[in-house]
Amino acid sequence: MIDTTEKYTSQYFVEKEEHFGAHNYHPLPVVLNKGEGVFVWDVEGKRYYDFLSAYSAVNQGHCHPKILKAMLEQASKLTLTSRAFFNDRLGVYEEFITKFFGYDKVLPMNSGAEADETALKLCRRWAYDVKGIAKDQAKIVICNNNFHGRTITLISMSTDPDSYNGFGPFTPGFIKIPYNDLPALENALQDANVAGFLVEPIQGEAGVFVPDEGYLSKAYKLCKEKNVLFIADEVQTGIARTGKLLACDHENVHPDILILGKALSGGFYPISAVLANNDIMLTIKPGEHGSTFGGNPLAASIAIAALEVIRDEKLAENAEKMGNLFRQELRNIKSDMLELVRGKGLLNAIIIKPKNGKEAWDVCLKMKDNGLIAKPTHTHIIRFAPPLVINEQQIHEAVAIIKKSLSEFE
Ligand code: PLP
Repeated sequence: MIDTTEKYTSQYFVEKEEHFGAHNYHPLPVVLNKGEGVFVWDVEGKRYYDFLSAYSAVNQGHCHPKILKAMLEQASKLTLTSRAFFNDRLGVYEEFITKFFGYDKVLPMNSGAEADETALKLCRRWAYDVKGIAKDQAKIVICNNNFHGRTITLISMSTDPDSYNGFGPFTPGFIKIPYNDLPALENALQDANVAGFLVEPIQGEAGVFVPDEGYLSKAYKLCKEKNVLFIADEVQTGIARTGKLLACDHENVHPDILILGKALSGGFYPISAVLANNDIMLTIKPGEHGSTFGGNPLAASIAIAALEVIRDEKLAENAEKMGNLFRQELRNIKSDMLELVRGKGLLNAIIIKPKNGKEAWDVCLKMKDNGLIAKPTHTHIIRFAPPLVINEQQIHEAVAIIKKSLSEFE
């Protein structure tokens, strides 16, 4: 153990990770040790605006006191029972979350990837037991440039070579189509063995691609015409991030299967969930799916508090308002490097046009020096997704930092 009373520099911790950790990430060189609301601090005590929010897991702001209280109270009573026994939190949470999102049932898991895997299994089981597709013939339609996680099956659906190269053989049973392309979906749905269409309402990791208005509602309708399940991966877009509770709410689409993760815990703990109605959810029987930690009492208590914060603090409304202001202010910045601003609510991105060899990564380093942290996704895109508790004055300050940082390349 390190002596926490002694002062260590950022470099010390960077070297530790380099030396002892797998090299599966390329972090921005900033070492954080404190967070509160929209801010984080590094080990030298410098404060930053957090414009990533742990990939939208910290929608409620860092260390939200209400979620913290729920966590501490539950952690001192009972944390894990496994599902071999009942506990006095899970059923309460299940009632809360199903009513919150309008479904009959929930299946609790931990990571977003696990929840996606769960949804795929549910869809396949429904295909055989309800739709009547022949054994092992079910197909699921997915979109190019998707991101659903890192398991073998999820990377089997990926079109990003960084995700799948060198990890084969892959899981079969997927049809890949372009995103935001209704004729391609219609065509794929001609195959009678298609059981589901899995889609991100906005493609987050791909670089915040917002589909055309009407895409989700029309896609949903096409699925219904063919008795195909519309499965929404709202792990990143969900829980108020885009200005509505769910991104699908922008088009009044109620997915057959809803996948949630990240902000379901407000960043305190890995909590994910799959929601569906009885005709789908009850196709999986005892012993056919599960997770040691999924639905544990600690997670149940945290998730209730995290959702209450979203509702009580009207974070969807704030995301909508602050998002509009943010994009408007960004569009006023005059810089040759700022090629495009896009997004919805507080899930936004800018496209950086490289200048004199300087790219999005260099812009992120510059913003870090000026007190705001964000990370490129792919080479030329920077995602901006601050905690949803951000206020108007903070938006102005953040935009001033982005503007100053871009101007330093002039
Ligand atoms: N689905 C979407 C849309 C995501 O953006 C992510 C992560 O970024 C995941 C699934 C995977 O979640 P996790 O990293 O918790 O496994």
